[in-house]
Amino acid sequence: MIKRILTGDRPTGQLHLGHYVGSLQNRVKLQHEYDTYVLIADVQALTDNFEHPEMLEANIFEVALDYLAVGIDPEKTKIVVQSMVPELAELTIYFMNLVTVATLERNPTVKEEIKQRNFVKGVPVGFWSYPISQAADITIFKADLVPVGEDQLPMIEQAREIVRRFNRLYAKVLIEPKAMLGAMARLPGTDGGAKMSKSLGNCIYLGDSPETVRKRVMSMFTDPKRIHPTDPGTVEGNPVFTYHDVFNPDKGEVEELKERYRKGTVGDVEVKQRLYDALNHFLTPIRERRAEYAANPKRVYEIIMEGTRRGRELARATMEEVRTAMKIGYRFG
Ligand code: ATP
Ligand code: MG
Repeated sequence: MIKRILTGDRPTGQLHLGHYVGSLQNRVKLQHEYDTYVLIADVQALTDNFEHPEMLEANIFEVALDYLAVGIDPEKTKIVVQSMVPELAELTIYFMNLVTVATLERNPTVKEEIKQRNFVKGVPVGFWSYPISQAADITIFKADLVPVGEDQLPMIEQAREIVRRFNRLYAKVLIEPKAMLGAMARLPGTDGGAKMSKSLGNCIYLGDSPETVRKRVMSMFTDPKRIHPTDPGTVEGNPVFTYHDVFNPDKGEVEELKERYRKGTVGDVEVKQRLYDALNHFLTPIRERRAEYAANPKRVYEIIMEGTRRGRELARATMEEVRTAMKIGYRFG
C-alpha cells in the first residue's frame, strides 16, 4: 500500500527559507512516491493569534501560493485547510484524555515558544495543548511520515505516544508516524538567532523581491569579533556561511570563500554579495511561479477547496473507525 505524508504550516505569514530546507523541499521531492496531504493549520495559528483572527484568511492564500511556487503539484498533493475539517477538533478532544498535564509541561519546544511569546495574560490552554491537536492532525490522515524541522520532533514524539496508548486501549486503528528532517533541521535566522521564524522577524521569505533579499542579506549577522576585512574570521556558526552551505550550489566557490575568510583576505561584503547571487538564482523561478498563481486566485482557491474536500473525506473515514474502536459509534434506533 502506498504510504502517506502529512505535514503543515501555520498561516501566520508567508513561508521562508527555513520552511523550504526544513520541510518543503522534502514534500516536493516525495509527493510522487507518497500520498501527500499538507495542512494549512489555521486553528493552530489561532492559539497564539486569537486576538487577530482577521489575518488568517489572507495568510491561507499566501501559504498556498508558497506551496505552489516551490513546486507542490496540486495533482499530487492535497492542500487542506484545518478549520474546514471539524473532525480534527473531535479527535483532539478524545486525545486529551490520553495525555497528562505533566507530559505537556515537559515539551521543550512549547516551553521555548511560551518564553518567546511572553503571553501577558498567562498561557492560553489552546496554545499549551497544541501538541495534542497536532497529534490529531497527523493521525486522522493516517500519516506514516511527517517532514518537519527539528523544533517539531517533540510533537511527533507526543503523537507517537498518543497512538500507542490509543491502539492499546481501544483497537489498532491509528498509525505511529515517523518524523523526517530536512536538509537543514533548523535554519538560523538572519540575526544569527537559533531559528528563522515568522514570529521573530529574522526571515528571508520565498516571495521577497530581489531588493528585499539584497537588503536582508547585506544586514545579516556575521562573525561579531571581526571588525576589518583583513581580520581572520570564523566560519563555523556564522549564518552567512551556513546559508552558503545550503543555498550556494557552487561548492568550490564556498570553499574558496571560507578559506579566504579564515585568512582575512575577503570582506563580509563580498561574501554576502555572492550569497545574494546564489539566493537570487534559487528564488527567481519560485518568485515567477508565485506571481503566476497570484494572478489567478480563482485557480488557487479551487486547489484549496478540492484538497480540503479530499482531506475531509479521509478524516471522516478515520473518525468512523475511531468511534467504533472507542465503542461510541452508537447506532441507536
Ligand atoms: P511561527 O513563528 O508562526 O511558529 P514558523 O516560522 O515556526 O512560524 P511554522 O508554520 O510553525 O513556522 O513551521 C512549519 C514547518 O516549518 C515546521 O515543520 C517547522 O519545523 C519548519 N520550520 C520552520 N522554521 C524552520 C527553520 N528555521 N528551519 C527548519 N525548519 C523550519
Ligand atoms: Mg512554529
